[in-house]
Amino acid sequence: MEVRRSARRRRTVSAYREGDVTVVLIPARMSAAEEKRWVTVMLDKLAAQESRRRLGDDELSARAAQLSAQYLGGRAIPRTVRWVTNQNSRWGSCTPAEGSIRLSHRLQGMPEYVVDYVLLHELAHLLVPGHGPDFWKLLESYPRTERARGYLEGVVAAARLPHPPTAREE
Ligand SMILES: [Zn+2]
Repeated sequence: MEVRRSARRRRTVSAYREGDVTVVLIPARMSAAEEKRWVTVMLDKLAAQESRRRLGDDELSARAAQLSAQYLGGRAIPRTVRWVTNQNSRWGSCTPAEGSIRLSHRLQGMPEYVVDYVLLHELAHLLVPGHGPDFWKLLESYPRTERARGYLEGVVAAARLPHPPTAREE
């Protein structure tokens, strides 16, 4: 990651990938604290654009299989994984009896690590119902659990919605 300051920039911040390097352009007179904040915002925004581009409806199942293999020893095997638009108060849901997982379309456009977290969360419910210690233990190996939860809480706070539980069944 590389931050470039530009004297010509007065207010706008932008970011893009240049090969392996992520470049964030900021106004020259921005403070260090503002820089830090904006870099986080722009990295999330960039990741969100990429997740929108990459994760279509068809790719969700493949993504689920990959996450299950990587973090759950491949033990969670959903029968169906799909986006739904009728789920506005929760990010994801899972019906273990049917092996079905549904993700809210509101996640589309969020950073990829957030979508992955919700998907992994629902996959873990195929193995452990509820949110006891056994459940969270399953998510321990995913390094961005806390960050993703923080991101989603921020979204909820911003929208002033009630906290959406990622419930096991509808
Ligand atoms: Zn849950």
